[in-house]
Amino acid sequence: MSNQQTRKYSAISDVEMENIIQALSEFKKTHVWVSVPDKKKKWIEFLKKISDIVEIERPKLVIKRNINCNCFGEYDDSKHRIELNKYSVITLLHEFYHAIHIKKNINAPHKEAWDFSNEVFFTVYPKKKQTLVNLNGVFLKRSTEGQ
Ligand SMILES: [Zn+2]
Repeated sequence: MSNQQTRKYSAISDVEMENIIQALSEFKKTHVWVSVPDKKKKWIEFLKKISDIVEIERPKLVIKRNINCNCFGEYDDSKHRIELNKYSVITLLHEFYHAIHIKKNINAPHKEAWDFSNEVFFTVYPKKKQTLVNLNGVFLKRSTEGQ
């Protein structure tokens, strides 16, 4: 298909990309950063929405401090589960991209997962670019730089 040759990401179409950005814009309005009792519910709803856009089953979401890897998050294919060490939209999007390409059996380069999460996140949160520092494609809060 000619569409596949021109698309930016191997695991999603340009239309799906637009719809995911739109979904994050709506999610942003629900004040995702504040601590609310139904915070996890909101995050799961968002995950459901973007899963529907790319037509995969919604991954489970686990937030836990000590993920068993030297990272911020992880996608566990065997459990179809995204694990985050804290609520982080950008990491969620990154791991979500892994879920898409694995479920769709597409061999996407790892860099694509960061390009995807960065593009979606900074399109919706352009001001965050000033408060985050890019370390090898991973965005960290400036205050945690060097830690
Ligand atoms: Zn990754």
